[in-house]
Amino acid sequence: MTVSELINPATEELLRTVEQTSLAGVDDAVARAKAAQRDWARLAPGDRAAALRSFAAAVDAHVDELAALEVANSGHPIGNATWEAGHVRDVLQFYSATPERLSGKQIPVAGGLDVTFNEPLGVIGVITPWNFPMPIAVWGFAPALAAGNAVLVKPAEWTPLTTIRIGELAVEAGLPADLFQVLPGKGSVVGERFVTNPDVRKIVFTGSTEVGTHVMAGAAAQVKRVTLELGGKSANIVFDDCDLAKAAATAPYGVFDNAGQDCCARSRILVQRNVYDRFMELLEPAVKGVVVGDPASKDTEMGPLVSRSHWDTVTSYVPDDAPVAFRGDAPSGAGYWFPPTVLTPERSDRTVREEIFGPVVAVLPFDDEADAVALANDTPYGLSGSIWTDNLSRAVRVSRAVEAGNLSVNSHSSVRYNTPFGGFKQSGLGRELGPDAPLSFTETKNVFYAIGDL
Ligand code: NAD
Repeated sequence: MTVSELINPATEELLRTVEQTSLAGVDDAVARAKAAQRDWARLAPGDRAAALRSFAAAVDAHVDELAALEVANSGHPIGNATWEAGHVRDVLQFYSATPERLSGKQIPVAGGLDVTFNEPLGVIGVITPWNFPMPIAVWGFAPALAAGNAVLVKPAEWTPLTTIRIGELAVEAGLPADLFQVLPGKGSVVGERFVTNPDVRKIVFTGSTEVGTHVMAGAAAQVKRVTLELGGKSANIVFDDCDLAKAAATAPYGVFDNAGQDCCARSRILVQRNVYDRFMELLEPAVKGVVVGDPASKDTEMGPLVSRSHWDTVTSYVPDDAPVAFRGDAPSGAGYWFPPTVLTPERSDRTVREEIFGPVVAVLPFDDEADAVALANDTPYGLSGSIWTDNLSRAVRVSRAVEAGNLSVNSHSSVRYNTPFGGFKQSGLGRELGPDAPLSFTETKNVFYAIGDL
């Protein structure tokens, strides 16, 4: 039996050990899930809806427990972790309406009746990263279950605890044990086997573009369906006609939330040159005001980085001679602490081009609207972004020109469970959330019933 050790990132103390699923364990889980899926898909739609509502109620009754677990395992501030656990409930509730609404079409044809059915795919493999363990898991498993599939979730090695607990809650709520299974383990073992086992019919992968590319190539061998949610290097574009005080006050929260370990982090702030100096004056107190500290404290806005090795990676982007404009505070002593950091690099610098996935932001001046759009799009990624302007025409033009899947104008919001989420370019493939997500866990079957002329 292989076990992995989990470390509390705020204290560096050993939290727990977790047993890793073996290759044979994955195959056994897939076989059991396949059998459970047939029964699940045969249930009356109303019964599947009721089961998902019970699951949502069980999560609701354990929001505080799940949040405390995420604080200890991932170092998320308690306020964020509580929102994340509540979000699991909300997403389950939203998709509990699906089974009774997943209707196909009746298409007028000559000589008979033509009907489409949205058939479930079968067993779905969901592979999640360590940065938002609960939300990202539920974005995959809730619509997949709702569409009549079985789901296996492989959480990230560093942060499996909340997903494991959600798996237990599903069983406590009455879902068949084999229908929804959480399989902690290595990406190279469990994740790879999801890709190669032919009875897993679709992979929902969220993680780095590098591993996502590998998953997509492996899935191609079986023409296996994939949804990919990958990296980002999103732009926060600040025009001279916006509410500059508000743009500066909110900019830290658009990038330093979850210590910058956020695929949607606006890690490039692009500021129109004629307001650049004023913006930086306003940004400095906002960055220094971010409350970094004990994630269990209700006042904390930013916790530690997730692990020692990730701390090493983030630190490598801020060497002694880095162009640091100013930094916020962070605790010293045990824990993987990193202060909010503002850089003013050249456009060609690696801090402008690479996803750092930590609390480090690059601020760059731009000349005009065309320059801003070109700079925003000068990246292989295209996940998210913000546009600050009080000019409606400009807001429409720029939001249509920026190549990204999720934009917000005069705010930094990215994710609502009832609106679609996903990336352009190398940030991903397919969309999660929103009203259409369950369809991506189905195949459309068209059947023509010959009945002669009506
Ligand atoms: P990662 O790619 O290292 O790992 C993601 C998951 O893939 C983990 O569960 C890992 O065990 C598994 N894995 C590793 N090797 C595998 C393999 N060969 N086959 C199958 N699975 C394998 O990513 P990470 O470091 O956990 O997460 C950070 C990355 O995730 C960042 O790039 C971030 O932008 C991205 N992310 C994207 C979104 C989004 O919605 N677009 C959301 C969150 C995170």
